[in-house]
Amino acid sequence: MDTPPHPADRGATGADAHPASPGAIDLGGVVVERVVEQQLPIFDAQSFFPGLTDEVLDDVRPAALAEGSLDPSGELVLAVQSYVVRTPRLTVVVDTCVGNHRSYPHLPPWDRLQLTSYAGGLARLGLTPADVDVVVNTHLHGDHVGWNTTLAGGRWVPTFPNARHLFVADELAHWQAVHAGTPSAVVADSVLPVLAAGQAEVVAADHQLDDGVRLVHTPGHTPGHVVVRVDGTDRGALVTGDLVHSPVQLRHPDLTMLMDVDPAQSVASRRRVLNEAQREQLLLCTGHFPLPSVGTLDAHAEGFVWAPA
Ligand SMILES: [Zn+2]
Repeated sequence: MDTPPHPADRGATGADAHPASPGAIDLGGVVVERVVEQQLPIFDAQSFFPGLTDEVLDDVRPAALAEGSLDPSGELVLAVQSYVVRTPRLTVVVDTCVGNHRSYPHLPPWDRLQLTSYAGGLARLGLTPADVDVVVNTHLHGDHVGWNTTLAGGRWVPTFPNARHLFVADELAHWQAVHAGTPSAVVADSVLPVLAAGQAEVVAADHQLDDGVRLVHTPGHTPGHVVVRVDGTDRGALVTGDLVHSPVQLRHPDLTMLMDVDPAQSVASRRRVLNEAQREQLLLCTGHFPLPSVGTLDAHAEGFVWAPA
């Protein structure tokens, strides 16, 4: 059956759903690049952040519209992307986006994607999936694990044939328990095939991957959520996953996101890590902020303001 072009595939015809991935960031001996899967207005801001009152929204609207993190319709503009961290020894992919052929009937921008942008994005970095040594999922939500697997001949198989996939023990246990109660397509399609292929390595939430690359436990959004701290000889960066979703949430770090498993803990993790990032002027490599998605923090009132790189 023929299907019409999907709205999220507009990039293929020239609109901006798949903007070209921004350039490499050299931290000094460690380079951070990314593959952008999509960027578009997607969730009503006040539904996404249940604590975002009319008053707070009025406060943040001018800056959010100006920086492009809020659409005039009231929807948040979110990117979905992978970060590729290249050390002298390893090529590491952090988070693997939504992926193709996933069923999200209530979320058209993610539903049954047939994108070429992801493979194309890797190729633009001079990489094939076989070149990836390590995959880290900051947590096991669908938009962070999708390209762990690819549909081939009706089966989900690992996309990165030579990669070790690091799963944080608390996170994997949580979602295996959820899946045992109510089957989850995300777990079945994007996690279990990696375990079955023998490519999974279950690690602690403070696991060190390589010199200057380690996980930092940031529970709350999910129990085993981690950010990835990357320290080069010149500067440090954090690949933040869903520690923070939008610059809107920087100004008001107490705003929790609809899906947070433990909202109070998510606020505590966010404040702890953002304070550290601001103090050390770490480069935040965010998953969902609109492009360029990377920047630093300035202190502002109760929170922070975003200084895109
Ligand atoms: Zn996410």
